Parts: sequence; structure tokens; C-alpha cells
Amino acid sequence: QAKDAGRNTYRFYSNEDETNTSELRTLREELHFSLQNQELELYYQPIIHTQQLKTIGFEALLRWRHPTKGVLAPDQFIHLAEGSGLIISIGAWVIHQSLKQLAMWQQMFDKELFMNVNISSRQLDDDSLSDTIRHALDFYHIAPRTLNLEITESMVMRNIESAKHILYALKQLGIGIAIDDFGIGHSSMNYLKQLPVDILKIDKQFTGGIPHDKVDIAIVDALVALAVSLNLKVVAEGVESAIQFEYLQYKLCHHVQGYLFSAALSASQTTTFLADFPESIPAGFRKVVLPE
Ligand code: C2E
Ligand code: MG
Ligand code: MG
Ligand code: MG
Repeated sequence: QAKDAGRNTYRFYSNEDETNTSELRTLREELHFSLQNQELELYYQPIIHTQQLKTIGFEALLRWRHPTKGVLAPDQFIHLAEGSGLIISIGAWVIHQSLKQLAMWQQMFDKELFMNVNISSRQLDDDSLSDTIRHALDFYHIAPRTLNLEITESMVMRNIESAKHILYALKQLGIGIAIDDFGIGHSSMNYLKQLPVDILKIDKQFTGGIPHDKVDIAIVDALVALAVSLNLKVVAEGVESAIQFEYLQYKLCHHVQGYLFSAALSASQTTTFLADFPESIPAGFRKVVLPE
């Protein structure tokens, strides 16, 4: 049984299809009550300005504090929420909760701190998305430019024309659009020309190849150069070592995020992180911080 695998390590066993199906059904039913039972929680990963060495924003990352299975990561339940349509209400909660938190940190620390929120394809296709965002921005008095939506290439590539239409409508709100996991999907760079994109996020797979994998390094170099020449901000994900950070700093990659600085933190841990490093993160602090 998967539950025997321990509190914090829930796994799907591919060789036990029947168990799989009934367990998934149970999990899907439980997920339905996760919102009202207040089992969902946002964690925040600091995004660091590579030259200034300070926190300039966060990515909101969803966790499910399951009553018996421990803390589940999004890869273990987001697809269930997408399949059942539940992602619309969960996604709306994520937008509200992350902006509420951002308003607090902007008041405590810096008006220009930004929040990146991951959006799934079901949400992007849903007509309520821009109303949900507009309402939350108004309600928490957030400047739209301090919210970025993270979408993936594959979401865009499914239907360029429709993505173009939806993203231009969202841009009317004054928010930013980031392409997440850039380079691993259906890479047709042509869409960058057509879509109102502001930020490229280099997938951690490529960052992970620094400093040993020549191909990954060539890809990182090319993606940074591409972003700079298109006047986009570029963020490297998955920075785990000082040498990776120093390479990206030398290559003028604008922002980084990764375990070198911090894993995703609970809201209160994030407040402490911001309070400890109001100006810049001391070089000596940089160390690999493993996620919980
Ligand atoms: P993502 O948006 O690409 O998020 C980055 C993932 O990389 C996060 O995993 C983060 O914890 C992890 N990460 C950060 N730094 C490092 C590092 O240095 N090394 C390594 N190995 N990993 C690092 P997480 O939190 O498990 O999220 C997985 C994915 O789930 C996200 O990928 C995103 O696609 C999705 N997701 C997370 N939160 C939400 C949400 O609120 N809504 C939707 N629709 N999707 C979400
Ligand atoms: Mg993301
Ligand atoms: Mg990513
Ligand atoms: Mg990812």
C-alpha cells in the first residue's frame, strides 16, 4: 500500500493499477474538501536580484497538508485538480492568498516586491481568470506591475491564437507574464514574437548542467542572450551551488531562484528571511537549503 511508504512520501505505484485508481479516486475526493478544511497552504520561494544580491520577489508554490499523508507537493495533486475542474477554485484561492500576503510584505518591507503565481491551462482558458485577478488586485491594493503570472510553453503552444487573445486581455490589467520552464517544452521561439511576454524562466534542468555540461551551458548562454535582446527579464531556476550562481551573475542573468538561497518557505519563515536580509544577502549565508 502506498500509505505504508511513510507520512511524507506518498507515491503512486505504477505496477498496481487498481490500487492506483481507487487511491487516486479517494485522493481526488479528499482534494475536494481541502479548501474548506483549510489544508492548502502557500509556500514562497525568494527570487534574488543577481547583481544586488537582495530579495526582489517570490514565487508562490502550493502545498497540501493532507490529514494522513503529510505535506504533498503540487506534482502529487495538481493534475487531479485540473482533471476535475477544481483547479478553478483552488487557483482563485492561490491568487487571493498570495496577493494578501504580498500586500503585507509590501507594507512591511518594500512596495516593489513582486509575486509570481503559477497558472494552469484550465485556468488560462477560464473566462473568470481576469475578473478574479482584477478583484484581488483591487481588494489588496496591489500595483498590477507587482504580479506576474507564470505559464508554460506547452500551454501557449496548444493554441497560439487563443493564447495570444487571452494573454493580451490579461496584459490589459497591467500585470506581467512569465514563461516558466523555458526551453524544455515545444520550443518554437516564434511565439515569443507574437505574445506579450515579460519574463523568461530558464528551466532548472539547464541550470543544473552548470559547470560541467557543455550543452546545458550553451543553452543557458543562448537563453540569456535571447531574453536580453528581446528586452525580457530572465530568471534562472534551480540554482543550487555557488559556482552556478557566479556563472549566472557573470553572464548577467537578471534574477535567480534556488536552494542555494532558499527553498520555498512558509509565510512566517519568509517574513523572517526578509527581516534578516533587508539590504542584501551576505555571501557567507549562501548555502544549500534543502526543502522540508
Ligand atoms: P515550477 O513553477 O517550475 O516551480 C519550481 C519548482 O522547483 C518548485 O517545485 C520548487 O520548489 C522547485 N525548486 C526550487 N528551487 C529548486 C532547486 O534549487 N533545485 C530543485 N531541484 N528544485 C527547486 P514545487 O513547489 O514542487 O512545484 C512543482 C510545480 O508545481 C511548479 O513548477 C508548478 O508548475 C506547479 N505549481 C506549484 N504551485 C502551483 C499553483 O499554485 N498552481 C498551479 N497551477 N501550479 C503550481
Ligand atoms: Mg513556476
Ligand atoms: Mg519552473
Ligand atoms: Mg516545473
